[in-house]
Amino acid sequence: MIIIDGSEGEGGGQVVRNACALSLITGQPFRITNARGKRSKPGLMRQHVTAVEAACALGNATCEDLAVGASEITFTPGKVVPGEYRFAVGTAGSTGLVLQTLLMPLVLSDAPSRLILEGGTHNMLAPPFEFIAKTFLPIVNRMGPTVEARLIRHGFYPRGGGRIEVEITPAPLTPIACVERGALHERSVTAMFAALPFEIADREIGAARKALDWPEESFAVRQLPEEQGPGNIVLIEAAFEHVTEIVSGFGQLGVPAERVAKMAAGRMAGYLASNAFAGPYLQDQLLLPFALAGGGAFTTVKPSQHSLTARDVIERFIGRRGVFRDQPDGTHRVEWR
Ligand code: ATP
Repeated sequence: MIIIDGSEGEGGGQVVRNACALSLITGQPFRITNARGKRSKPGLMRQHVTAVEAACALGNATCEDLAVGASEITFTPGKVVPGEYRFAVGTAGSTGLVLQTLLMPLVLSDAPSRLILEGGTHNMLAPPFEFIAKTFLPIVNRMGPTVEARLIRHGFYPRGGGRIEVEITPAPLTPIACVERGALHERSVTAMFAALPFEIADREIGAARKALDWPEESFAVRQLPEEQGPGNIVLIEAAFEHVTEIVSGFGQLGVPAERVAKMAAGRMAGYLASNAFAGPYLQDQLLLPFALAGGGAFTTVKPSQHSLTARDVIERFIGRRGVFRDQPDGTHRVEWR
């Protein structure tokens, strides 16, 4: 039994999700203590419970003591059965994070699957749908599988009600090198909003325009149907030949629209100023598929606490350690030992 102290490193929900995925793939049971031990409200939240329940459902696994607020659970995996599954987070909890738990076990199974995930699609502190579809999945697909995600309906915090559908055609993961971005093809800034004043999106675009100095046609406002709101997000996208980076700014009550856009623009400017292939979020999300592929390499920005923690959890299950090597140009190259 692998025992994980969930308060180590980043000490958040990602430890639980990665452990479930790795357990289903390797067949090794695990117990986690102090789950989300570094969060202000430790223990599992609704979205983590849904992710573990979903892992149990498709992996014929059992999980002892699983409940909202639980800080210790024991997960015993079974056989992963590909097929069609629907999971609802129940709140605005992130559909993207549930997908993070289920994707690799299904990608490495022996038949196609279809997932219907309901909940939030654009949540703070989680990958927004566009990031999954345009930033993360294209890299997974380059490794062999075919995974297509469709957004059926947006879901914002706190209302939720979003829906994504994901078609997965499995294939073994082959090691690839993701070290060069290639030429810059397209840049865009989209301020999306639903059931909120147009002025919010307009002010975000104004601030992003000032901060980025990109061509006029790069900027757009997108109004979603009223019933999908209230919600607001600024998506800043830079599409290179080999990778697309998407930085998001989440509209929040009490935070001026200009500040939301300016912070996101600042993060995009930081990414563009480096030579790294993977930005800070793609970095931690690529660790699992690369480790499972058994090699390959990618370049990235400074290692995040999320990544270092994910790297440690991965090593516990598959005995392979990711190393971050400093590069002369200030980037870091991630490889496996
Ligand atoms: P907790 O509440 O414990 O922090 P959590 O389960 O919500 O937990 P984390 O452990 O913090 O989540 O993991 C969040 C995941 O979402 C990471 O994989 C991170 O890369 C990803 N993520 C967060 N924000 C973004 C973003 N703006 N764009 C893309 N990915 C993101």
